[in-house]
Amino acid sequence: MERPNAWKQYDENAVRALEEAAKGYKDYITRGKTERECAALGVEMARAAGYRSLEEVIAGGKGVQCGDKIYQVQMNKAVMLFHMGKRPLEEGMNIVGAHIDSPRIDLKQNPFYEDADIAYGDTHYYGGIKKYQWVARALAIHGVAVKKDGAKVNIVVGEDESDPVVGISDLLIHLSQEQMVKKASEVIGGEDLDVMLCGRPLKGEEKEPVKAMLLSLMKDKYGLEEEDMLSAELELVPAGPARDYGLDRSMILGYGHDDRVCAYAELRAMMNLPQAPEYTCCCLLADKEEIGSVGATGMQAMYFENAVAEILNKCGKGENIYLRRCLANSRMLSCDVSAGFDPLFASAFEKKNAAFLGRGVCYNKFTGSRGKSGSNDANAEFLGRIRKVMDDNKVCWQTAELGRVDLGGGGTIAYICALYGMEVVDSGVPVLSMHAPQEIISKADLYEAIKAYTAFLTDMGPAK
Ligand code: MN
Ligand code: MN
Repeated sequence: MERPNAWKQYDENAVRALEEAAKGYKDYITRGKTERECAALGVEMARAAGYRSLEEVIAGGKGVQCGDKIYQVQMNKAVMLFHMGKRPLEEGMNIVGAHIDSPRIDLKQNPFYEDADIAYGDTHYYGGIKKYQWVARALAIHGVAVKKDGAKVNIVVGEDESDPVVGISDLLIHLSQEQMVKKASEVIGGEDLDVMLCGRPLKGEEKEPVKAMLLSLMKDKYGLEEEDMLSAELELVPAGPARDYGLDRSMILGYGHDDRVCAYAELRAMMNLPQAPEYTCCCLLADKEEIGSVGATGMQAMYFENAVAEILNKCGKGENIYLRRCLANSRMLSCDVSAGFDPLFASAFEKKNAAFLGRGVCYNKFTGSRGKSGSNDANAEFLGRIRKVMDDNKVCWQTAELGRVDLGGGGTIAYICALYGMEVVDSGVPVLSMHAPQEIISKADLYEAIKAYTAFLTDMGPAK
């Protein structure tokens, strides 16, 4: 039952293709550090591959045919791609879905204050983080501020070599006697994650002169007032590019592998499709998974269903029954990262049912916590068909649970799409140090994920 290491089977050509994919991916997560940036990159890739927006298709007047490529963006934070297939939509789609939000630290709406001649930004963290991991490191600021007239200012500071970076300070070890005996969850409190932004008083300013320096920089560089923070989304993320990891360059260290590695693999798989796939193929890149898939850009919102309804309408099948059939008959991989086995924390895993770095894309029949609570738990019939598609396409794959029973748990978007009655199973790339500012994956698992998602989209079909 032990799965082989994928690297053993690679010839020179495979390693070249793997390195090409790794290079493209490193660029994707270096440029895409927020859900907005990843959505924009997804659209960029789609348009370059001949996709048109759903708005263009609707405005175009003509119907939708096999081979047509359509994308739709939800509020700049979620993206859907559809590549129309030969079969009618009501026979179901082959869907791959991932999320493009990652744990981070957001600036509050009223963030700025001055203390001890330093100007700070107050923050509220997003997603599940070990707060102590985010101090004493270089952070970049990514996001937008929207002015009252609707003008949007894009901000990225801390990525260019010549840019300054910002960060959150930690207490010196010399004075940490009290801090060091605290529980890890209390070492750094949520309200302690205040980011240092400026340290020099503005000349001629009496009251809060360092905060005045910050506000004057904002005004000069971006034309922003302090009040504009009320309608801003500024995210603090680890600064700098994703890099090769390990002396043999077999791995990648970077921010946001969860879940941008699956998002990128999905996008690459969509670009690999034949002009006329058998079934319509769909790629979902959702927002807000890390906080429960809520909100208008999270998977629980109706934008996916609405987009499918619009496409069906363009196919002359606007009646609701076609939508219900299309969704219920679909097959989906909920593509999200899995916990890679970490020998340094072996007791957190049950080794026979753990995912290993380098052994390929991982399938999780179920996730959840305790007695599989909150889990999708895919059907054995569906897994049987997936095994055949994976093996027929020589994909290196493995199965896993998230970790030892009763230790914790997690979820993905799988259970939400399963509500339509479609077949869904979790599949993803194993990650070490998940949710840390810098996470680790194996290049082999990225490469196998692209192969797996391409095979699923191309070859999957309904039960015979
Ligand atoms: Mn995830
Ligand atoms: Mn996560």
